[in-house]
Amino acid sequence: MKVVRLPVVASGLAPPRTEPGDRLAPQLETLGHLGPGDPLVDRFARRVRYLRLSVTDRCNYRCVYCMPEGVEFQPRTALLTFEEIVRLLHVFAGLGVRRVRVTGGEPTVRAHLVDLVARIADVPGIAEVVMTTNGHLLAELAAPLAAAGLRSINVSLDTVDADRFRDVTRRGDLERVVDGIDAAIAAGLKVKLNAVALRGITEGDIASLCDFAWRRGLVVRFIEHMPMSSGTLYTPEHELPAAAIRDAVAAAFGPLEPSPPLDPERATGPARYWRLVGDPGRELGIISAMTEHFCDTCNRLRLSATGDLHACLGHDDAVSLRDVIRAGGSDDDVRDAIQISLLGKRAGHEFSLSGEGGPRKHMVAIGG
Ligand code: SAM
Ligand code: SF4
Repeated sequence: MKVVRLPVVASGLAPPRTEPGDRLAPQLETLGHLGPGDPLVDRFARRVRYLRLSVTDRCNYRCVYCMPEGVEFQPRTALLTFEEIVRLLHVFAGLGVRRVRVTGGEPTVRAHLVDLVARIADVPGIAEVVMTTNGHLLAELAAPLAAAGLRSINVSLDTVDADRFRDVTRRGDLERVVDGIDAAIAAGLKVKLNAVALRGITEGDIASLCDFAWRRGLVVRFIEHMPMSSGTLYTPEHELPAAAIRDAVAAAFGPLEPSPPLDPERATGPARYWRLVGDPGRELGIISAMTEHFCDTCNRLRLSATGDLHACLGHDDAVSLRDVIRAGGSDDDVRDAIQISLLGKRAGHEFSLSGEGGPRKHMVAIGG
């Protein structure tokens, strides 16, 4: 078996900084090829069981930290078809991927998303299909998505102030999102809230977001702003470190203590969880890529809507699985391409608080 073609690409508008396919392809000859049933383990002994799958690069919002003005969308023919997605997921499942997170852009703007979720949930070996959404279309979609096999949903909500919500998302409708969250709860989905915390912008909303989440029995997770898009959407003075987020919660509600890990997902996921001392039901998570790194437990790969496999969020390297299959590649060729991507997975990102060191790719193109 030989590697037919391993095109290396970069999402977004800029060319890649490095070319892992060219650099790493010869290593396949000495390392051997992955076969069906082999585990995905990287050079740092991190086992990959989780795939983030972007299904569109489009979005109905324009969040200030995520999508640059004037971003160009990919032509629809460049996106993976449902058949291509399902074929690739069979290969990933054979390599031990058990959890798929559907993301975007905004996943709910992809036509026939409910059908796609049902097809992903049917792939043998995929034990869990989950989603991240801005919630704008969730009121209508929550029940059909749950019926299609979606297990849980993360809804992005940075503030519960309607004006600030509109400013941050550049067009969002808070009422619709709240209705979507309530519809997801009513549909039996496990719901978490995700909030990007920005000093001087959403900093004052931390306590009200906790209150909003806890009144519904939900966990809210605060995310440190990451300098994607070559840092062009990032300003160091708006960075709100994890420690400051914890201080804001403690000032409003009392002291915090670390939550014990409840399940394997928590042990390997990017969020660290905290709870109010004496009130374990009131919990929050913090995803602190900038000030408290978690790359050493990273267990994921990211597949963009155009089929580019990214081993790291913080680097531009990618291998195009779409081009492998559209060139007539076999499942063995797809596995080789996945392994090449995995060999290129770095020890960690190079984000810095000054905004330098991040990738050129846009968060909206890779899906978080
Ligand atoms: N549109 C969906 C949504 O907003 O949930 C899914 C895609 S969005 C890119 C995934 C997550 O990335 C969201 O929670 C969003 O807030 C977060 N995000 C976007 N840009 C970010 C950045 N520069 N730093 C940290 N998180 C970011
Ligand atoms: Fe769209 Fe989500 Fe990015 Fe906001 S964070 S612009 S909703 S993809």
